[in-house]
Amino acid sequence: MLEYAGNWLECRNRNCGFPTRVPYSCRTKKVAGRTTDSAPFLFACPVCLHINPYENKELRRVRFRWPDPYKTGKLVLYSALVGCAHPLCPTELTIFTPAASTVSLAALLGLWKSWTLDIQCGRHRFRMRNNESWWIQEEKSLAGADC
Ligand SMILES: [Zn+2]
Ligand SMILES: [Zn+2]
Repeated sequence: MLEYAGNWLECRNRNCGFPTRVPYSCRTKKVAGRTTDSAPFLFACPVCLHINPYENKELRRVRFRWPDPYKTGKLVLYSALVGCAHPLCPTELTIFTPAASTVSLAALLGLWKSWTLDIQCGRHRFRMRNNESWWIQEEKSLAGADC
C-alpha cells in the first residue's frame, strides 16, 4: 500500500484537540538534527476556530494512506495578515488556516469572523481588525514561503 508522509497538527484547545493535516513544511526540515527555524506560528483550527501559537515540535510526522490534499488541490492553506485594532498599535500577525478549495473566500471570511485569539500584544490584548482589511494569500507551507 502506498503511504504518504505528512504532518498532523493537533488543536491546542483542550475542548477540541482536532488533528489537522498540514502541508509538509520546511519548518520541519532538520539540519544536523536541529530544526532550522523554531519561531512559533499562529494556526487557526478549522473546527473550533481557536487560534493558538504552535511550534515545529508540535507537528507530528504521520504516514497517510491518501495523498497530500494540498498537492491534489482539495485543501488550500491560507495565511491572513491581520492588524491589531488597538489605536496606534502597529502589530500585524500572520495566521495560517486550511480550508476546502471549494469554499469561496467570501464564505471563509464569514466563518473567520468567529476566530478566537487570546494573546497579549505589548500591554494590551490583541484585537483583530475588521477582516475587510486583512491581507489573505495562499501558502505552500507553514513557513509562509515556497520552500
Ligand atoms: Zn480546535
Ligand atoms: Zn496591539
